[in-house]
Amino acid sequence: MKRTFDSYHVTLYEFVREILVVCPNCSQLALVSSGNFQEFKAKIEGLNLSCKHCGYSRRLEPIERRQSPAQKNGVILKFGNAIDPFFHAELWLLTNYRSRTLWAYNIEHLDFICRIISSDLRERHHAGRTIRGIGSRLPKWILAANARKDLLNLISKLRNK
Ligand SMILES: [Zn+2]
Repeated sequence: MKRTFDSYHVTLYEFVREILVVCPNCSQLALVSSGNFQEFKAKIEGLNLSCKHCGYSRRLEPIERRQSPAQKNGVILKFGNAIDPFFHAELWLLTNYRSRTLWAYNIEHLDFICRIISSDLRERHHAGRTIRGIGSRLPKWILAANARKDLLNLISKLRNK
């Protein structure tokens, strides 16, 4: 495992192959496909956002890695926010819990968060590297024991959205 990257972000990459978003055109469920993206490569191709409800479709030009930090133009990738990293569309799997926002890129990601919330601290420490990587970096309020039941309820509503 590469240690040069933030491990939270590395594990997030595992969930970005397909991202459920709110269609910018009709506000229904749309899909972002991240093409050949797995981690930051020199060039990312095949990025698109498509909606089967209204036919909206947008494709990103291949993204080239910046040659220098001073280079500001081009697409900015945003990981770790309640938006998709590529088009910056609002995530479909988004809910509020007391002024906080709980979000996931897709159902697999939601299930993953759900498993972490469901397991107790000890289990998390014994779980695999990925769980530790992402679990230890989830906000404290998500892991708070007194929030567990409410959060699991919210997650189950989101799953059926
Ligand atoms: Zn649409």
